[in-house]
Amino acid sequence: VAGAITLLFVPACKKTVEGETKSWNRNLQRVQRLKTLYPGFAAALDAREKKAQEAMAAAKKLNKANAPKMMAAANSQLMSGFVGKLDRVDSKIKRLRSQALSATSGARDRSDRMAARRAADDARSVLREVKELLRNGAETPAAALTILSKVEGDLRFAKRNLDRVIKVAKDKRKAAKKEAKVRERKAAKKEAAKRPWKCSYCDHKNPATALKCKNCNAPR
Ligand SMILES: [Zn+2]
Repeated sequence: VAGAITLLFVPACKKTVEGETKSWNRNLQRVQRLKTLYPGFAAALDAREKKAQEAMAAAKKLNKANAPKMMAAANSQLMSGFVGKLDRVDSKIKRLRSQALSATSGARDRSDRMAARRAADDARSVLREVKELLRNGAETPAAALTILSKVEGDLRFAKRNLDRVIKVAKDKRKAAKKEAKVRERKAAKKEAAKRPWKCSYCDHKNPATALKCKNCNAPR
């Protein structure tokens, strides 16, 4: 039983020295790019990179059986915590910005439009604040983690606000559409009731008000 359970946790792709080296090079490039994008975090990124470099150098000296696992650990050491957050922050910012832009477009009435505008304004002020925080950066990995956790929280809060007003407007649109359909169907039924009808048994044309065929007495 223990063997079966262990099997479940074997990762789908086995770690290799080659694969981890590839990841390492890619990750180093990402960190380099982050230093260029967020120079305020360069010192913290340098500190993180140095630590991970040491871990990677030690891992490479291990035998073939242990090296891949420890190289993978060095890789995650490089990218975990504030580095990962910093790596993802740009796409979050972009998503929030486009959401703030489109929030008011779906509003059907004045109150929705106002709620959307307010949430969009809030989002924009969060975005300004986030930009400032990212520009200021942080000297150490620990300080960077604090800043980026706050940034993530602020972005998440603004996104939830926007999500909510967008959903309210969407639900209203859906309800209005449904209502229109029901109205249409009722009108069509009413219209049909006004038309004369043909008996399906004898083809006699009966007036709209007749419940039975005037010719053969069959029910409508
Ligand atoms: Zn008939």
